[in-house]
Amino acid sequence: MKDQPGFCYEIYKNISFRSDSNGIAYGPCSFFKGEYDKNVSIEQAWNGAGRNRIINLVATGAKVPNCIACYQQETNNKISRRQSSTVLYETFIQDSDIDIGPTGLDYSIGNLCNLKCMICNPQNSSSWISDYQKIYPDRDVSHFVSRKSETLEIEDDSILQNIKSVHFHGGGEPLLSDAHIRLLEKINRVKGLADVRVFYNTNATVKVDDSVLELWSKCRLIELYFSIDDVGARFEYQRTGANWNTVCDNIKWYYNNMPHNHMFNVNCVWSYLNLFYLDQLVDWHQTNLPSNRYGDQCNLIFQRAIGNFNITHVNSSALSALKNKFKHYPILLSLLSDLTVSDQPHYKFWQAVNQIDQVRQSQFTSMCPEWSAVL
Ligand code: SF4
Repeated sequence: MKDQPGFCYEIYKNISFRSDSNGIAYGPCSFFKGEYDKNVSIEQAWNGAGRNRIINLVATGAKVPNCIACYQQETNNKISRRQSSTVLYETFIQDSDIDIGPTGLDYSIGNLCNLKCMICNPQNSSSWISDYQKIYPDRDVSHFVSRKSETLEIEDDSILQNIKSVHFHGGGEPLLSDAHIRLLEKINRVKGLADVRVFYNTNATVKVDDSVLELWSKCRLIELYFSIDDVGARFEYQRTGANWNTVCDNIKWYYNNMPHNHMFNVNCVWSYLNLFYLDQLVDWHQTNLPSNRYGDQCNLIFQRAIGNFNITHVNSSALSALKNKFKHYPILLSLLSDLTVSDQPHYKFWQAVNQIDQVRQSQFTSMCPEWSAVL
């Protein structure tokens, strides 16, 4: 099975679920396009026809159409989640038994969020809904409204028996709701947390209280991925609703107060909005968070934006300006190697940014004058 072209450990060991007003959708991971089951319990999804259909497809030697994101990464010589999960299970966790599962949960709490980041949308942020309504007054937004009562509660303890990793990710800000606490407490009751790694993608706008720090201290590892795309006023523009100084203070608080079993990463989504200024982010990271207080490295991870702000091409003079600006930043030069050189205008970007600026009474061109001139 493992040598089949569609094989991926996530299909056999992980289950991803996301609650929203349309119900609960399941898949093997958050990269999976669509879902393999919907509006059933997690036990039914894990044992049900939807997941079995994917397993049977892999067994016949076929690729899984919903896994297109991973296949595309691999075609572009990038490391896909599918490939990373092989390293994770075989080398890092050393648990490659595909008959025992689920061992991992990917949990999105839905779209409850206090920010309306430029790169986001109402599907992933409840704070985005009112601006979306202003941009598209004729569209129905009721299905974006987040209800806590629709968040999944796991009824059958047996599904948690083998859990060794939990990933709380966006949309939504996981630390705003107590759903993550309830889930960790439940796992603690069923099997304990001593061998469980827990990952959070957080916008760093909120701190946690002592009871959460105490719960986290029972886990094998807590990894916080801080979503930071830029610094200062440009950060506040892109991560609309956030205050840069508060976020920096919160990160310092986490640095000083996390239990011993933690690691940090900085996750940057690179796009039209921030590419020109990423050298400043690299400097900020090197100065402020190169490691945690025990000296464990804090990685700065670059993730390419999708949608209207995904930067696909620049003209040759823009590319040489960027190469010159980043000449002492090899990590950024490697991002530039992904760009196509073309004189095509950037219509889609300008239309998207102008739409948002209009409803927020902001202005990309005055926030980023040098880069706007280059574009
Ligand atoms: S191949 Fe990629 S998208 Fe498909 S299940 Fe694996 S990690 Fe998820």
